[in-house]
Amino acid sequence: MDAMLKTLKRIVQEVNAAPDLNAAMAKLVLRIQQSMSVQVCSAFLWDKSVERYRLMATEGLNKNDVGTLLLEKNKGIVGLVGRREEPVNLANASDHPSFHYVHSLGEESLKAFMAAPIIHQKKLLGILVVQRTEARAFDEAEEAFLVTMGAQLAGVIAHAQATGGMKAMAGKSADSIENIRFDGVAGAPGVAIGQAVVVGGTELEDVPLYACKDPQREVSKLKAAFERVREDIKQAGKALQDQLQPEEQALFGAYLNMLEDSTLGDEVARRINEGYAASGSLAAVVMEYSSQFDAMDDPYLRERGADIRDMGRRVLSYLESNDDETRELPERAILVGDELTPAILGQISENRIVGIVSRQGSSNSHIAIIARAMGIPTVMGLVDMPVKVMDGKQLVVDGYRGHLYHNLTAEKLSYFEAIVVEEEESAADLERLKDLPCETLDGYNVPLLVNTGLLTDVVRSQDRGADGVGLYRTEVPFMMRERFPTEREQIEIYREQLQAFAPRKVTMRTLDIGGDKSLPYFPIEEQNPFLGWRGIRVTLDHPEIFLIQVRAMLRASEGLDNLRILLPMVSSTTELEEASHLIHRVEHELQSEGYDIKTPEVGVMIEVPAALYQIRDYASRVDFLSVGSNDLTQYLLAVDRNNPRVADLYDTFHPSVLKALKHIVDEAHAYGVSVTICGEFAGDPAGAILLSAMGFDGLSMSASSLLRVKSVLRQIDMTWARPLVDEVLNNDSPLIARSVLDYALKRYGVSVGPNYKDQNHID
Ligand code: PEP
Ligand code: MG
Repeated sequence: MDAMLKTLKRIVQEVNAAPDLNAAMAKLVLRIQQSMSVQVCSAFLWDKSVERYRLMATEGLNKNDVGTLLLEKNKGIVGLVGRREEPVNLANASDHPSFHYVHSLGEESLKAFMAAPIIHQKKLLGILVVQRTEARAFDEAEEAFLVTMGAQLAGVIAHAQATGGMKAMAGKSADSIENIRFDGVAGAPGVAIGQAVVVGGTELEDVPLYACKDPQREVSKLKAAFERVREDIKQAGKALQDQLQPEEQALFGAYLNMLEDSTLGDEVARRINEGYAASGSLAAVVMEYSSQFDAMDDPYLRERGADIRDMGRRVLSYLESNDDETRELPERAILVGDELTPAILGQISENRIVGIVSRQGSSNSHIAIIARAMGIPTVMGLVDMPVKVMDGKQLVVDGYRGHLYHNLTAEKLSYFEAIVVEEEESAADLERLKDLPCETLDGYNVPLLVNTGLLTDVVRSQDRGADGVGLYRTEVPFMMRERFPTEREQIEIYREQLQAFAPRKVTMRTLDIGGDKSLPYFPIEEQNPFLGWRGIRVTLDHPEIFLIQVRAMLRASEGLDNLRILLPMVSSTTELEEASHLIHRVEHELQSEGYDIKTPEVGVMIEVPAALYQIRDYASRVDFLSVGSNDLTQYLLAVDRNNPRVADLYDTFHPSVLKALKHIVDEAHAYGVSVTICGEFAGDPAGAILLSAMGFDGLSMSASSLLRVKSVLRQIDMTWARPLVDEVLNNDSPLIARSVLDYALKRYGVSVGPNYKDQNHID
């Protein structure tokens, strides 16, 4: 490996392993100073509270200034680098017009000066500076090194800043840090106040540090788990005895030594005796040990880091499987996890969950969609949230703006408490609409349908007077199981849905797995899952799965006759024909077996760009179209719907997406088929006005959005809304398109509900 790359990697690792932000910065400047052979390396971080750069660490300048020296934004070369967000490289700093002499630092003998910004997710975190006595500009390689260092460390520093607060809370200075805030992406609207419960993840990094009541019991659990791993290794060694050379056999011995070495076990026991549960203590110690090995130069010793982690994971899995204490959720639980999936909701008594926060994913991840359906405030993509220290903390989830708070001052907490009360009142207000039709002031009826998946959705939808189901995501009940459900089990699940809504129509989508939806018992591992084996592609390759599912749907509909079948991720007429052929085959088989089955309507999802240009070909082969605007947006804009880094780019108000939606409606109607939309856009009150004005024949959304959408549609005239479509579409940016629509609604006097999103004064 290139020497510089190696050094870079090692520094990042070491900084990452530092116990807190100050130690991380001190380590960082020391390592940069050594590896670049410069006299000085210093790091400044932007301190929001004083609006200045603060000297966090230095090697070579006066260390007494660390923590106290502040630099103004508009002064000096550091200020310049911050404003321009690009590096400077000067042979002699004092010749530069922005040079500003700081008396206390002791810079007199230094001439060459180079600084690079540290930027994380478009936000400037600070500046790295190197200086040397010789008046010679730094060469290109040195400049590249410092810039790369700044870029690589930005994430680590942002994380350390965020965890700094959390770690301090776990320790002595608990009460000194107020208003800790983590930024993510709004997942489901609403505000929740409750207690964190960390779930999921057997990776060492994800194991939370739970407090424990009975350290003695934890220590014996730990010993038992170590013993079982020891047994496993011995067994594995024996089983392979004949196939391995003696030196390979010796590896098992090394492993056993590691387990028998009392240092590691003693260290874990010490943590337990400080009051932490065995799993969290083990994970913490293993991570510390292994990062020490990771930082070593010797490749053999570095490998030992991997061995320790592997051993740690094995012990951990025994510890967790032995954990007979089922965790009782607090009254108002906020689920916290690294990458929460819908399956987790199935395993937990959901009526105590008031909020959800996930370190990974974005507003279009399926957990967020389900959370919206359930009306649970959710924040996704909290990339800097230190998941494992969160357990038990009191949190405030702001699902409007995608923020998570801890330790709020009384004034700020009461602001959020007031929102919770207001929301409850507004929900009660909307309840009045549930039996009223969704009709505009000038008498146009817009059918409002619901998206379902869980059984709770059915109850909620009925409460809110839905006109039917526009999208039943059948993969949701599949995800909650440990194997594929049988035909009989599926019949029961589907019958419940069909019966609950009869005679209104229920649109059941065939299994749409792949992408971010995998079944625990049918893993699909791919480099690029959203462009891979997904939706109809999987089920056509596995006709046995498809046929059983369609049989179950048809049998469940016997006597009710309100079933519509919807095909996901279709990108060619061949797929459409193959699927239709299988559906009709099942229908005829069932009829010949004596079942009284009526031919269901079959529809196709328009969610892949290829479908946009074949609306006529699709329309001639099906009974209806349904637009999946979540995926259509993702594929049209080439923006992963789950990736928080690009979440800003994912915008259904993008003119290309809006034009595509209008094109689909016009084409579908020209060829005489009906078209509904079932992506999240349909549940956005302003979006719903635009879509119904475009001419969509029905809007399908989360049950929790239904009454608000009904409320706005009942406030408008369709003759007023129709000309708005062109006005909004004829803009070249998503932001302007959205503003044009919002402004028109305001002028017209339509209230789209409380807009907590705009109230930034809380921060
Ligand atoms: C969509 O893609 O818009 C859609 C409704 O399907 P899903 O979100 O389940 O992919
Ligand atoms: Mg989709």
